[in-house]
Amino acid sequence: MKAYRTRLTGLPKDKCDVDYIRRLMALTNLAYRGFEVLTPDLLKYIQYQLYGSFKNFLESLVFGTTPKRWLAETWVPLKVLRIYGDDSMKGDKSASVVLDFRGSVIRLRQVCKNEPRYVVELPMPKWVIDRVKEGGDIKFAMIGLRDSEPYLALVAEREAKPYVPNGYKLVVDVNSWRYGIAWGLIRNGKLITWRVEKPDTFLVNTLYHQTINRERKVGKLKTLGYSGSAKVDEIKEQTHARRSKIYRITRDKAYFLASKLVKKALKYKALLIIDDMTEESRRELLEEGLPRDVIKLLMSNLRRFVHQLETLARWYGVPYEFKRLYSKKCPRCEHELTQLPGRIMVCPNCGFKAPRDMVPMYWALTEME
Ligand SMILES: [Zn+2]
Repeated sequence: MKAYRTRLTGLPKDKCDVDYIRRLMALTNLAYRGFEVLTPDLLKYIQYQLYGSFKNFLESLVFGTTPKRWLAETWVPLKVLRIYGDDSMKGDKSASVVLDFRGSVIRLRQVCKNEPRYVVELPMPKWVIDRVKEGGDIKFAMIGLRDSEPYLALVAEREAKPYVPNGYKLVVDVNSWRYGIAWGLIRNGKLITWRVEKPDTFLVNTLYHQTINRERKVGKLKTLGYSGSAKVDEIKEQTHARRSKIYRITRDKAYFLASKLVKKALKYKALLIIDDMTEESRRELLEEGLPRDVIKLLMSNLRRFVHQLETLARWYGVPYEFKRLYSKKCPRCEHELTQLPGRIMVCPNCGFKAPRDMVPMYWALTEME
């Protein structure tokens, strides 16, 4: 089974012509639709790369999806040449991306500016070295813009064979950040460890209230006729900075947790079971009457967490499956559970009682037998 991981690296803005990259992206979009547009002012080399690469990339898994809209910005697939420490090489010698492990640099030929023999050199990211050490190979790359900033996406490929689980199961229950991500390690029908993981909720709360206060202040200043003033701009900037900080906190937590859980599964040779309850969690938060923007923050980067968990599991050969585990249904008699204060669930039929986030673990246990 082939596994892939992708990493974005920012490109130096002063060395990149953003309009040129945007043009390449537009041509890529057309190429996906089978149109080969010959533009006389583009260098032959890059035209050859663009359309020559396509024939390889169209069948590959990574670039197999067609852009949804006409003229949407589409990342430009590029061939990669790898030059190793012993001077051996892999890939097309004329490739526009060169990973030179001898000097630990990446060279980009002709993709950052429409100028003959234009080369941009970047330091080799540690990420590349780590993936290669794990037996991966960087066969593909893409260049493109995100929020009008130029980036290089490196795609690592690895042949990974999932191990056979040896009786352990690692169950991961994805809730909103309010109640956290719950995980439990199960062996032979017994729950060995169970934990709920959350970002620093106190810090997130503080930041959130600071943004609300600032938004109110901006509103007040606007009604007083100060809409365009420097003070308003300053407060708006502070609000934006705090919101971005909250997103960064949940994103970092998502990446940290995905990595921690996959390592744990590897250590125990466990089968990874992912219960993605994000939709149910969203409904629960709505029922609690939380404001929509709070819900958005509490749900932020959870998709990314699930995606990263799956990506890492594939990369390291951890067998995994998605499974629906209930939290409102009794794991003993399947009767509807009643929720008590403190998110305690009880069964009015058989008397089963457990914290809400632990109920899915009981469901995972019943499935063992
Ligand atoms: Zn029951």
